[in-house]
Amino acid sequence: MSSRRKVLKTLSALPLVGGILGPSMLTAKAVETTIAKPIARDFFKELGVRTFINAAGTYTSMTGSLMRKEVTEAINYGATEYVNLDELHDKVGERIAQLLECEYATVSSGAFGAMTIGLAGVICGMDTEKVAQLPDTTGLKNEVIVQEAHDIGYTHALLNTGAKLVQVKTAKELEKAINKNTAMLWFLNANTDMGEIDREAFVALGKKHGIPTFIDCAADVPPVDNLFKFTKMGFDLVAFSGGKGIRGPQSAGLLLGKRKYIEAARLHTPPRGTTIARGMKVNKEEVLGMLAALEVYLAKDHKEEWELWENQIKLISDSALSVKGVETEIHVPPHANHVPSLRIKWDESVVKITKDEMRKRLRDGHPSIETVGGKEEVGITTWMMEPGQERTVAQRVKEVLANA
Ligand SMILES: *Cc1c(COP(=O)(O)O)cnc(C)c1O
Repeated sequence: MSSRRKVLKTLSALPLVGGILGPSMLTAKAVETTIAKPIARDFFKELGVRTFINAAGTYTSMTGSLMRKEVTEAINYGATEYVNLDELHDKVGERIAQLLECEYATVSSGAFGAMTIGLAGVICGMDTEKVAQLPDTTGLKNEVIVQEAHDIGYTHALLNTGAKLVQVKTAKELEKAINKNTAMLWFLNANTDMGEIDREAFVALGKKHGIPTFIDCAADVPPVDNLFKFTKMGFDLVAFSGGKGIRGPQSAGLLLGKRKYIEAARLHTPPRGTTIARGMKVNKEEVLGMLAALEVYLAKDHKEEWELWENQIKLISDSALSVKGVETEIHVPPHANHVPSLRIKWDESVVKITKDEMRKRLRDGHPSIETVGGKEEVGITTWMMEPGQERTVAQRVKEVLANA
């Protein structure tokens, strides 16, 4: 049986999927890249943990993304031999730097871990006494300047070093805030449009005052160009999540940028102990998984993938629109989670169900489907789905709305 027919057969075996929505949108290529399914033991079933179709996106609470078989193979391979941990990190760091055309790189424990070790590297340099001193920053540069609109929860990763944050709004305020204790300037790419200082100006301010700049790009692939763009723009350090758009291990990430800071950041990580990042260990399995995921991501046809997402979103949108009183909006967030996305809205006096109840019914149905949104809309993306699941989602969305 061809893999395409296998997928279709599996789909038609699912309840509530009747092939009602017309011809399959699966391309042979899309099927080839589906994840490797676990064999034999069904752990989630055994544990009574329900799996679901992810129509939401890359959420930590939903365990992020699914790994391609090249990635799980790399992880399995890594689990079978001993190597020297530092040597492996050194070599993979070089390889990633080459792939992403930057000075140096390391695999971190998520984007969050990248932020902590990156700042720790900036603060302590190669001085191992200082490394051992953190999170006590007495006598060390310990202030990080951020734009107020960028200071959302993720800045806690910076506080983990013992540093403190200094909020500013304008370039003028930023320059005034710089003093002998200023360690770093930190930028949140997702909130680019909410701050007054843009990326180029931010980098220029860092250079003017000789202070390193760091940009958090955790959720900023796609587009693939972002993996190259910000180191080339002049940011000293750049962080990406490994387990979002790149679909590597969910607890891995990438720290890219200047060699001197990344080598210093590594001094805080295992195998060294008595450091703040001893608990942010990235062992061989995840190092190899991250490398494999990055290679697969760079090699893929991004245009084709984008078209697939657009078609999937349109299919779900059309299905929702077939219910009277329902409106949809297709949009692409400009920064972070930059993928075709759908908002489904309705007048609750016409379609008599709240948005919360709609999400709950999708979650409680068969198969379970996770969506996002607030009081005004149900939000859907398809980039974290496996090909074919969009038809199940389209069908269920229509059913729940039509039966409201
Ligand atoms: C997801 C995210 C993080 C955390 O990334 P992890 O890879 O889960 O550690 C940090 N910053 C932003 C903006 C994010 O979206």
